[in-house]
Formats: sequence, C-alpha cells, structure tokens
Amino acid sequence: MTKITQIKALLSLIVLFSFSIVTAQNEPQCGTIPTPESEKFFQNSLPQVRQFEQEYYQKTLQRSSTAVSSVPVKIHVLRTDEGAGGFTESTVNTIISDMNTYYANAFLEFFICDVINYIDNSELYDFSTDEQDALTLTNNVTNVINIYFANSVSTAEGGGLCGYAYFPGGPEVILMDNSCALNGSTMPHEMGHFFGLSHTHGNVNGTLTTELVNGSNCDTDGDFICDTPADPQLGFGNVSSSCNYVGNATDTNGDDFLPEPLNIMSYSRKACRTLFTPGQYARIYGVYQASRSVMACPSFNVDLTASFTRECSDTMTVDFLDNSIGATSWEWDIDGDDVIDYTIQNPSHSYSGAGGYDVTLTISNGSESLTKVYQDYIIVGGETTNTTQVVLTLVTDDWPAETSWVFRDSAGTALYTSPDYIEGDDDFSSFTETFDIATNECYSFEMIDSYGDGICCSSGNGSYTLETLEGDTIDGGGNYGFGKIVYMANNVLNTDDYFSNTTISVYPNPTQDILNIKLSNTNDLPDSYNVYNMLGQIISSKKITQADDLRLQTNTFSNGVYYIELMKENSSSTIPFIKN
Ligand SMILES: [Zn+2]
Repeated sequence: MTKITQIKALLSLIVLFSFSIVTAQNEPQCGTIPTPESEKFFQNSLPQVRQFEQEYYQKTLQRSSTAVSSVPVKIHVLRTDEGAGGFTESTVNTIISDMNTYYANAFLEFFICDVINYIDNSELYDFSTDEQDALTLTNNVTNVINIYFANSVSTAEGGGLCGYAYFPGGPEVILMDNSCALNGSTMPHEMGHFFGLSHTHGNVNGTLTTELVNGSNCDTDGDFICDTPADPQLGFGNVSSSCNYVGNATDTNGDDFLPEPLNIMSYSRKACRTLFTPGQYARIYGVYQASRSVMACPSFNVDLTASFTRECSDTMTVDFLDNSIGATSWEWDIDGDDVIDYTIQNPSHSYSGAGGYDVTLTISNGSESLTKVYQDYIIVGGETTNTTQVVLTLVTDDWPAETSWVFRDSAGTALYTSPDYIEGDDDFSSFTETFDIATNECYSFEMIDSYGDGICCSSGNGSYTLETLEGDTIDGGGNYGFGKIVYMANNVLNTDDYFSNTTISVYPNPTQDILNIKLSNTNDLPDSYNVYNMLGQIISSKKITQADDLRLQTNTFSNGVYYIELMKENSSSTIPFIKN
C-alpha cells in the first residue's frame, strides 16, 4: 500500500468509527461517539498535532521546566429528584487527582472549575445517551471539559456503558458511570478520547484490527500510534486475572498478537489498565497544544501577554502583563528553570543569552492555584549572520508534496513561503530560492514535513541547506521528522555598538574638492577611515585623532562613485559618495 492509500484507509476507518459494544464481555465498555465534525477536525489538525508530538519528545529530553498546565473541568453530579445518591466532593477530588498522576506525563493537570453542579433529576440519574441534549443544553459550561457522573449510563437501546467522550471537534462532554469512575482506569480512558486517543484495537469494535504485529502499518491502522502493539481486542475473556494476554489470535501475516493488557486505551480488564505509552502521551500533548489549550474556567484562569516575544540581539527587556482572572498572587518563572523569578503581578525582565525560553505563570486565589506553561514563548537572538541574502537549496525526496517551508521576520510575518511541490513532477528535484534580508533584523526559517519522516532517508536522500550569499552555512539537513525551525539574527549590533548609537553622514554629496564627515556625537570619534573606489581598491586612508581629520581632500580623485568606510574598534560603517 502506498503512503497515500494508507492515509485514505486511515480516514475511512475513522468514518467507520462505530457505537457498537461487544456484549460478549463481562464488563460494560466505552461508547465514545464519532461526529462528522470531529472526523473532519482530526484530518485537518493531524499535521499540526504531529509537529507538537515531535516537540513533546524534544521536551521530555531537554525541557528544563517540569511545570504542568492546568486544564479546567466542570463537574456535574447527577442525583435523584430527592437529592439522594451521587458522588460527594471528596470522591470527585480523588477521581480527578488519580487521573492527574497519569496526565502529568503529558504536562497537564486537571482542576475543578467552580463548585460542583448537582443535578437532581431521577430521569437523568440513570442516564441514556438519547437524553444528552436534555442534560447538556442547560448545564454545559463552554470552553471547559464538562464531566457528568451518573448512576448508570446506557445506550438508547439499553446496553450498559462505562462512559463515553468525544474526540476533538466534538462537544466538550464526558459521561461517566459512577461505578466505573471509581475503577481507576475508565476516567483517564475517556479523557484519553477527549485528547484524541483511539482504542488500541482501533476505532471499530468487534472486528479484528488491520494493524500488523510487525508494526509496518502502525501509524495508519489500529490506534495510529506506533509504540502500542497491535491489539486483537482485549477483553475479560482473553486477559487473565493476573493481567496476562491468554488469547491466540493471529494477524493476516499469521503472526501471533502480543497486545499490552495494561494499556488504558484497551478493552482489557479494568483493573489491569494502568499504562499510557510515550506515544500516547505525545498525542495527548499534541492535541492539547493544537486544539485544547484555549480552554478557560470563567471565574479562575491564567492568561498573560508580553510587550515583545522575539528580539534579534542577545539581550531583550520584556514587560509582562497579567490578564488572569481571579488571581490574588502571582508566581512567574520567566526562563523555564523551575525557579520563581517574580511574585508581582506585572514583572519586567531582561533576558541575556540567545535561546528560547518557557514562561510559566502560577496564580493563586488564596485557596487554590493554577499554572499555565507557555512553551518557548520568548525567543532571543539566533544564528548570527552578516549578509544581504539567504539562499535555500532544497533537494526533494520521493514525496515532495509533504515538504513545505516558510521564512518569517521577527514579527512572525511570512516573507517567503514554499510553492506547492507536486507529487510525481517534483520528486528528487533540486530547487533554489533566494530571500532578501535586512540588517539589524532577525528571521526564522521553518522546514515542515506533513508526514513526519523528513526528506531523508527512507524515501530518497533529500536534503536542504540554508546559506548566506557568501556561502556560510546557517542550517541544513534532511532527517528532521515533522520539521525544524532555525532562528537567525542578521548583522545585529549590540546596543553599546558605536555605529548603532552614532548617526553618520557625508556632505556635500556629490562633492568637488572637500568631503565632510558629520557625526551626531563629535565627542567620540571613529578610529580611522578608508576610501574605496568602484573596484574595491583603497585609494585613501587616515587615522582620526581630531575633528579636523573629518575633512577629506577629494580634488585629486577622478569623477565617479566612492565608498568611505569608518572604523571603530571591531565594527565599521560604509557610506557611498560621488565625486564630480
Ligand atoms: Zn473508549
């Protein structure tokens, strides 16, 4: 199967996502519902999610901060007409805190937004899926995860469910059967669906997975995650009470399945499910960053802005503005090292040293605190260049349509973007692009591979190089997964640099016999000057020791264009002039 048809197969599998429940098992299962919106959403967001997954792996290796972002959940507890039954607040707290032990690995932590909403309605207390509108239209809080705890949950046909949720793009609703909510695995399982995780046996229940044991189609079949082994659908019947797989199913190659009975996203025995894989955590993190990070509790929420987030030179002063709701105290870690740097509401901070910095703000209202991590929020400096043009040379692999790039200035404006490389026409081809750049400005260049395999080496030896006009290499490679970004700062002078603080001009221009150099500050003279002709030959040089040295005799020069280069310590500034 080609890569394209594999992707089509993946999409059609998601369309087939069904509500069916396997009744042969002794435990009620999960009834997560697909919607056309969520299927479309999944297709559209997958490239971005995969880029964030790449970032997740980098973060787990390199991240200095261990802070986790607070995600709001609204708790709704169903009770009888008389207010009987239903969870207490302390039970709910235990369920959420147990779930948080897993999601900390995806850098997330759930917190309960406002007080618990008790719904006293005997009809809804034993909940049927066809009553969802009646329940949620009057109770849902927008832009938070609404978790409803019911005495029982069943399909409209009467089949028992442990719970259900929606994929991203669907409603922000999770229904939980109370007894299942206490088993320790159904709550993190349903939240997994909310963050885009499929069952390890795939999105179709009761049909043998097409994912192969040898892993060759792991990213397009089954749960579309490669570090979860192919799962023939675990259940009470093929998992022993000691949590071992005891089935004997084989895939279409005849290979014996070796599924993971501990995986939370499987249909294994509930008590056995205690494991998410790194690939699953990466998917959760990716979906959060791509589509769920804007969730906010209306009464208590972390939010901030900054005066600048990108600076070309290696020093930068940033004024932070707190836009949080409900805060009475603030803790800022403005450089991602887990150390609190400021406790005032609106700090100002001077960064020195090139790099990307995480900013973490924790707010408190006196009894609770919330945290939000803004990954790589502040970018300072970058690869130093001194040129007028940057040249991109790209050699595509066998899948050119997966490749794109964008060249941005410091404001984030895309100055140059890739053409659409055409599958079939542009395979294994070489392209050269030239980007005009300015001095005292910084840029970012991003290479993107929508499939996540770079352009080297499984489908051809593609590569790219980014060079200055003079041939100095800025960046390059081909083995970059979903993509990479490089920051560069072009001829950026430090603020203590003489020529960035001194305005220089020459007059009269054109000149006949005398050329005057005018300085904005005559108390601090340049060291010397050279005069060049059009051929780059030095035709005059002088040390500058007094103000009189700023007058040049040009009567001996032949008519034409000249350049005067003024030098001070290690820097210089060049101005053209005309002799006639
Ligand atoms: Zn499920």
